[in-house]
Amino acid sequence: MLSIVSTPIGNLEDMTFRAVRTLKEVDFICAEDTRTSKVLLNHYQISTPLTSFHAHSTDAKREAIVRRLKAGESAALISDAGTPGISDPGWILIRDCLDAGIQVIPIPGASAVLSALVASGLPTHRFVYLGFLPLKKGRQTLFKALVEEERTVVFYESARRVVRTLEQLSQYLSATTQVVIARELTKIHEEFTRGTLMEVLSELRGRSSIKGELVVLFKQDR
Ligand code: SAM
Repeated sequence: MLSIVSTPIGNLEDMTFRAVRTLKEVDFICAEDTRTSKVLLNHYQISTPLTSFHAHSTDAKREAIVRRLKAGESAALISDAGTPGISDPGWILIRDCLDAGIQVIPIPGASAVLSALVASGLPTHRFVYLGFLPLKKGRQTLFKALVEEERTVVFYESARRVVRTLEQLSQYLSATTQVVIARELTKIHEEFTRGTLMEVLSELRGRSSIKGELVVLFKQDR
């Protein structure tokens, strides 16, 4: 069996009892970065053997994991933070496991997209998650398509690029589009910046620097 285990996105208390128990009980843990995960595992006194599984893992590595699971071992998949598979490696391994007849179960927990969405104040009944926006190819096409988007839009962005991305979006979306920037969720400096596209842009432009991790959300007034 493969358990997809969500881990905290900043606050170590956001670990479920079930996640800790599962990570203790499985035969091995597939971790995106074993050094990063050791901090979390040490905190919870979890000494299960780790093996690395990341975006650049080879087919052979994946096959080796699937073979072990086929042979009867159990494993947990974790990423550096949040829910594996959500803008993190995971789905290919999950597909391979399912193809091999291995049971796959989710152990739910923290994820930046849902945490940002529920506290954003934007409509939550229908939303579209875009992951990280394409940096070059397909970027303009996506922006053009977003003009027609009626649902709340959520995407991940780096602090370094957020102002430029909002500037680009402002060329396509109305100035009154409602925007929320959810920064450093669950951490000491957690912050939500809410307002129209122009208000949020001018607020962020006024800062000497923007640090940390963030999620961008918007809803067009249509
Ligand atoms: N799998 C993770 C999840 O479930 O949220 C996402 C991993 S993705 C590689 C990392 C991106 O998620 C960051 O660049 C940022 O956009 C967002 N993110 C992760 N943790 C965050 C936090 N504490 N606050 C705001 N955004 C966060």
